Amino acid sequence: MDCSRTVFDTLIIGGGPAGLTAGVYLRRFTRHVALVDKGNSRLSWIPVSHNYPGFPDGINGLQLLENLRAQLANYGGSVMQGEILDLRLEDGVFVGDYVPGDGGEPCQIRAMTVLLATGVADAGMPVERWDEAVRSGAVRLCPVCDGWDVIDKRIGVVTSDASPVGHALFMRTFSADVLLFERGPVSTLNDEERQKLAAAGVTLVDSPLAGVTMSEDMKPILHTKDGEDYRCDVFYPMLGEHARSDLAKGLGAETVECHKLLVDEHCRTGVPGLFAVGDVTRGLNQIAVATGQAALAATTIHNTLPWALRPAASA
Ligand SMILES: Cc1cc2nc3c(=O)[nH]c(=O)nc-3n(C[C@H](O)[C@H](O)[C@H](O)COP(=O)(O)OP(=O)(O)OC[C@H]3O[C@@H](n4cnc5c(N)ncnc54)[C@H](O)[C@@H]3O)c2cc1C
Repeated sequence: MDCSRTVFDTLIIGGGPAGLTAGVYLRRFTRHVALVDKGNSRLSWIPVSHNYPGFPDGINGLQLLENLRAQLANYGGSVMQGEILDLRLEDGVFVGDYVPGDGGEPCQIRAMTVLLATGVADAGMPVERWDEAVRSGAVRLCPVCDGWDVIDKRIGVVTSDASPVGHALFMRTFSADVLLFERGPVSTLNDEERQKLAAAGVTLVDSPLAGVTMSEDMKPILHTKDGEDYRCDVFYPMLGEHARSDLAKGLGAETVECHKLLVDEHCRTGVPGLFAVGDVTRGLNQIAVATGQAALAATTIHNTLPWALRPAASA
């Protein structure tokens, strides 16, 4: 795609389920769209998603990504591999600095509107063979997504600053064998939190977590400071996240906790013409939410832009 050719109707930044769905909608509205993606959508980490509607036996994340790209291609859309490094407004037009992923010549992409679908970065935690552990489902990042899939398993959970005991109690609805480990060297749980855990039957491990390794058969082994090892079936590290909202913040868009963007019911940020959808916005990190927001935003974008009247069909 020649990015200097024109002023696009919309520049979509991010090619996960949110960006790709918006691309499909906008192409079907016959809009000129540039979609840039630097890869590694969170979708690509999902072994099998069982809660995305319409797939009774579940769907592998990479397969769903491929399906969405193919659907976009059916309407003449494509994904430009690479990254938008900077976004600004010049004379009422958005300008994105695009660096192609293949080492090609950087260029500027101009567009009337921008839809940010850049997702979140998960905070890191030292777990042995992380990629393999997540892709096999031994380490999991989203209890809302896959609690059902770990019913009656032995589940390890770590305290998080935002919710010290909440995640462990949530997991207790799926299994009677939940172990909660404290993250820091000193216990931060108060009496009320300890009582809640005891009443629910969550095992609070006394010694703080020192490290996580994986057994040969891909079971997480949680090591505590006192030298004990706890073998679990599945481990939820409850890492926290950092929304990739810098490009929007640079234009004055408002963010809330975890740098997530605040948007209205049409997914508009406070910056006219700048929309945001999916995990980068405040709300539940789910594929269905991302695709639903994309439908809303794309339709609003289409109705906001000047109509492009279709020429009469030639006889
Ligand atoms: C292990 C795991 C399991 C999950 N299971 C489920 C599940 O079962 N069901 C469910 O509903 N959800 C699940 N989720 C959550 C789901 O994956 C996310 O909600 C969804 O992927 C969000 O889509 P998105 O398009 O907003 O962001 P993403 O899918 O993360 O895509 C964002 C894209 O933007 C790109 N990008 C970022 N910045 C730039 C830039 N400057 N220029 C160009 N590109 C950029 C990124 O590289 C990325 O490709 C799971 C997540 C994980 C990690």
